[in-house]
Amino acid sequence: MTVPLTPVPLIDPFARAIRYLRVSVTDRCDFRCTYCMAEHMTFLPKADLLTLEELDRLCSAFVRMGVEKLRITGGEPLVRRGILTFFEAMARHLQTGALKELTLTTNGSQLARFAQPLADLGVRRINVSLDTLDPAKFAAITRWGRLPQVLDGIAAAQAAGLRVKINAVALKGFNEEEQFTLTDWCAREGHDLTWIEVMPMGDLGEEDRLHQYWPLSDLRRRYAERFTLTDLDERTGGPARYVRLEETGQKIGFITPLTHNFCESCNRVRLTCTGELYMCLGQEDMADLRAPLRAGPEDAALERAIRAAIARKPKGHDFDYSRAAIRGQMSRHMSHTGG
Ligand code: SAM
Ligand code: SF4
Repeated sequence: MTVPLTPVPLIDPFARAIRYLRVSVTDRCDFRCTYCMAEHMTFLPKADLLTLEELDRLCSAFVRMGVEKLRITGGEPLVRRGILTFFEAMARHLQTGALKELTLTTNGSQLARFAQPLADLGVRRINVSLDTLDPAKFAAITRWGRLPQVLDGIAAAQAAGLRVKINAVALKGFNEEEQFTLTDWCAREGHDLTWIEVMPMGDLGEEDRLHQYWPLSDLRRRYAERFTLTDLDERTGGPARYVRLEETGQKIGFITPLTHNFCESCNRVRLTCTGELYMCLGQEDMADLRAPLRAGPEDAALERAIRAAIARKPKGHDFDYSRAAIRGQMSRHMSHTGG
């Protein structure tokens, strides 16, 4: 018997409506950023990955259940073979109006090729991760990346009419002296800029993490020494808080999962490329959606599994750098859950 599909929105136990799904379409990447991956990563066996058709079915179920914003991430989403087919499939939800926004987070390496097709499919804004404008430092932090390729990609995105937000991970002893260089460059190029506090994801060694940690309160203080800051109320459904630099009119975002509690307004969940649904970036609990997905062609069991998972969404996470050891450290890498 086919159970009728009900468009009852997904509401978690803390009355938060789940409207935002981040989907990691691959754990693979053409870079090896030092804070994200080990140089010699062991990736998941290909057979474990959801096919693009399965990802389509899963994401479509979420859209039917009220998800309005889909962010495609990874790993590097644009290295997944056939990825445009998946964007095409999601674009049909933009056309019906069920999906309000289809976007992606990318390292920019493949944008020269993909920017125009993505724009043609209805992508309007993208996040590009870029921690430094110094070619040698860029090569060092990404290990395998080359800055000119990413800058070309960003230029292609602009030419295609995509709005670009730059995400920079704040790393002590690495890009501290570039705070204003990056800020000025973004102002000139017309990009928004968001700083991300480094998170204890993946097993890269505690020493490294504590060493890399540069609290965003410090960046904010430095901005305040140079500019008049106005806190903006605006929330994008994400964990970023924004300020405006009054002298330039620029908007700067801060993602501070460690020093600031953003969980109370969390409207998002994360799906991995193997079909695991993480209800919170900072908790180990997850639900396997691959089994109900593969159990049969009907979506009723899948929808039940999604609702059961949302009913377990925790109030918040538990990262804490203030202890000698890192409490709440997550064993999985960002590239697995999708940043
Ligand atoms: N490959 C794409 C990229 O780099 O934009 C998408 C995936 S990446 C995991 C998503 C975001 O997570 C990037 O902005 C990256 O800088 C960030 N990230 C990775 N590891 C991180 C960590 N340990 N702490 C904070 N941000 C991290
Ligand atoms: Fe790849 Fe993005 Fe991780 Fe860098 S941050 S290694 S680009 S997934």
